Amino acid sequence: MTQSITILGATGSIGRSTLDVVSRYPERFSVHAVAGGSRVEPLVDVCLSARPKRAVIADASKVVELEQALCTVGLGDIEVLGGPEAVSRLADDPDTDVVVQAVVGAAGVAPTFAAARAGKRLLLANKESVVCGGRLLMETVRNSGCELLPVDSEHNAIFQCLAGATEKARAGARIVLTASGGPFRGRTNLEGITPEQAVAHPKWSMGRKISVDSASLMNKGLEVIEARWLFDFEPGRIKVVVHPESIVHSAVEFEDGAVIAQLGSADMRTPIAYSLGWPERLDGCAKRLSLAEIGRLTFEEPDTKTFPLLQAAYDALAADNGATIVLNAANEIAVEAFLEGRIGFTDIFSTVRGMLESILAPLPGSVDEIIELDRAVRAKTRERLAVR
Ligand code: NDP
Ligand code: MG
Repeated sequence: MTQSITILGATGSIGRSTLDVVSRYPERFSVHAVAGGSRVEPLVDVCLSARPKRAVIADASKVVELEQALCTVGLGDIEVLGGPEAVSRLADDPDTDVVVQAVVGAAGVAPTFAAARAGKRLLLANKESVVCGGRLLMETVRNSGCELLPVDSEHNAIFQCLAGATEKARAGARIVLTASGGPFRGRTNLEGITPEQAVAHPKWSMGRKISVDSASLMNKGLEVIEARWLFDFEPGRIKVVVHPESIVHSAVEFEDGAVIAQLGSADMRTPIAYSLGWPERLDGCAKRLSLAEIGRLTFEEPDTKTFPLLQAAYDALAADNGATIVLNAANEIAVEAFLEGRIGFTDIFSTVRGMLESILAPLPGSVDEIIELDRAVRAKTRERLAVR
């Protein structure tokens, strides 16, 4: 039977990799709907290759432009909708079986919850919604019967390593989250870094925001929080190790001393194919590993002094309040400012730290409260950066 797929963030790096895997299995998958943020041209390209029934653009002011562009290329029969609510409505559309959530940033919170409530198979790349939604998101997933499959390579690896582990085995296990270390690994002075240097990741080809997060180690901090909620492991049982080759995507260490790791080339099509096919395996078309060719794998402790945001993430998690939302929102605004050349790279650290110190937020009890807190922190961070 064909599975009907909706891809949110279809024009991005994960969205396109997903379309690539899906296109190889036309008898198994059909693309029902796609959503993008604000860029019309790439969304039209996606529509040309995937031929969805619906296309949504989160920036509602672009609806007419999108409709006209689709008509021009002979795709006038695609239903076009606009606005963030329309993105969330796609996530719980009864005509779709699988939602791929690859929106970047906290804009993904509402659609992730919508898909979770609808009890869909949810391929979750948008880690920011786990960082913000935490316990509440996991409760929603459990109550609806949503089948949540992590796409983030480390979490996909952990999911694979934990397959078949009993509750007791899980309870005594530790997660070993690998980090590439990013483009500035080994440096102790991060002054004068340009956006171009920061987005040039040595191993992975990704969107600009996550590339900067990888360079600052914020990405690993967000992933510690993501792992805490996805797998229900206390933070003290999640350890980060730097592994520059990016071959071991993460590991789980069991009580008897056995460590189970998942290896593969640095290609997101592998975790995407795994999540699409689960419990079967599909060909994600990634390059096959030759361990003999690789020869050597290395591991080292992260430099938390030069890259303080990893520890900031552990601290935010330990606070057990709204701090992870503050951390995420302040980081998103700071990264945006850095990419626009308005602040320096290390200003991202001081901005996030500053917002964490100045905003003491209680734990939100609902999705609306999460979104409200996220908005308030964004506004305050923008204010802080404007008066610098
Ligand atoms: P990209 O920047 O490449 O793509 C982001 C996508 O989100 C685009 O389709 C963009 O549309 C869309 N978008 C932006 N703003 C909104 C909005 N307000 N509402 C709806 N859609 C929006 O990001 P990535 O693909 O790199 O990352 C996506 C998510 O996956 C992130 O959460 C990231 O952390 C996570 N992830 C990514 C990995 C990777 O290898 N890239 C690995 C692991 C996790 P438009 O094109 O119009 O701007
Ligand atoms: Mg990752």
